[in-house]
Amino acid sequence: MTVRTRVAPSPTGDPHVGTAYVALFNMAFARSQGGQFVLRIEDTDQARSTAESEAAILDAFRWLGLNWDEGPEVGGPHGPYRQSERGDLYQAAAKQLVADGHAFPCFCTAERLDEVRRAQQLAKETPRYDGHCLSLSQEEAAARIQAGESHVIRMKIPEEGACVIDDLFRGPIEIAWSQIDMQVLVKSDGMPTYHLANVVDDHHMAITHVIRGEEWINSAPKHRLLYDYFGWEAPVLAHLPLLRNPDRSKLSKRKNPTGINYYRRMGYLPEALVNFLGLMGHSMPEGQEIFDVEAFIKAFSLERITLGAPVFDQEKLAWLNGQWLRGLSDEAFADRVMAWGLNRDALMPLVPLIKPRTERLCDLAPMVGYLLGARRTLAAEDFEGLALEGEALLEVLQFTLWRLEALGDWTRPQLVATVEALAAELDLKIRVLLAPLFVALSGQAVSLPLYDSLVFLGPDLARARLRDGLEALGGVSKKAAKRLEKRYAELGQGSADEESTAES
Ligand code: GLU
Repeated sequence: MTVRTRVAPSPTGDPHVGTAYVALFNMAFARSQGGQFVLRIEDTDQARSTAESEAAILDAFRWLGLNWDEGPEVGGPHGPYRQSERGDLYQAAAKQLVADGHAFPCFCTAERLDEVRRAQQLAKETPRYDGHCLSLSQEEAAARIQAGESHVIRMKIPEEGACVIDDLFRGPIEIAWSQIDMQVLVKSDGMPTYHLANVVDDHHMAITHVIRGEEWINSAPKHRLLYDYFGWEAPVLAHLPLLRNPDRSKLSKRKNPTGINYYRRMGYLPEALVNFLGLMGHSMPEGQEIFDVEAFIKAFSLERITLGAPVFDQEKLAWLNGQWLRGLSDEAFADRVMAWGLNRDALMPLVPLIKPRTERLCDLAPMVGYLLGARRTLAAEDFEGLALEGEALLEVLQFTLWRLEALGDWTRPQLVATVEALAAELDLKIRVLLAPLFVALSGQAVSLPLYDSLVFLGPDLARARLRDGLEALGGVSKKAAKRLEKRYAELGQGSADEESTAES
């Protein structure tokens, strides 16, 4: 058997270190076994998937030195490798499930489903679909579909007993069927959900080992059942431990930058970041801490993975990066500095900002310090003397952050429109709203123009600095967060980013 693994990112946001971690382990396992590693884009969530996000993920993976044998752009015998281009396969699969009596059309309205959920929550039951449409006769269902009634396709779930999934790291895991929802497989717009597309693709792409984050364990029974329904052999399942913040909570951007491009912009070497990710849950035979990707692949073994929560420790990463930097020859070091930021391409966007403001070239370094380098560490006092204070100050920073987190198109006109719209909605003079943003971004009350700074810093660094500004002010307590979320929702434009990786 040829080992085939895959990483299957959803292109719905910035490239995440957690995705790179899963990709690295899948690549290392496939290569260590002489197998193949596939990259598949899971873009069935049409509302959230973007071509920019896909391009950014591929670019960040390549920067890290990851490479795949099959995938979009690379091609391969099992393509296309974008789920949005594989619709026919999912339609056929769903049709087969319905014909075999393993799935059924469901016409329930969102209001009815809400009511059912509320009643179940009151009765302290696991919220799940109550099987209402199971009782429809085939003729009635067909007639309603014929009449154009909106519907989804759900999978049937056994009424009794439990599902046992075999996790390579954890052994058998038993989950009662009563805990499993009659999952929607095809949405009302005809698009498959993650669960259907994922199983169909893993089968058709001949994936032998599904190695993914532990947050997917609860989905495994549904997947297992789908394999049984189709009569397909299920791949080996192995759920990697989740990366953690230092306080052991699930790695989150609120507590720790999670964007690969953040680390890239901050001047971490790709070798160091890959090395660091290789230390997350996998130990080298001699306990080596510094190794390149080739050495990692050579030593890689699923048996060497431990389930203890791997902590994404910034200090350790910085130490490791220092080790890698010091391992470079002086020439190579200079080359890296230039490739990172001291080059013509990087400086060109700054020239129009600097030229009108300077008499001497030596003013340049202090002026652009916060753009090219790290900005100085902030304290609450840095925000003193501004027109806003207290919760109003937190509010402006938090709301701007939420709006910028939701912004897909990081261009000057979009940034201007977003920030100005927020100021109008909050009934604030633009200058009042911008002042704390200046401080959070640059560490200075006066800096180069704000929108240009935002463009130059890019989404990862800019958002990280706003988050850090909030932290410098003492952070947002749980209670304050509730108030802010409520007020933000009242502004009417979407809700706070939930930082969820799951899609349904
Ligand atoms: N699209 C899923 C994700 O974004 C893939 C999960 C899996 O590997 O099955 O993580």
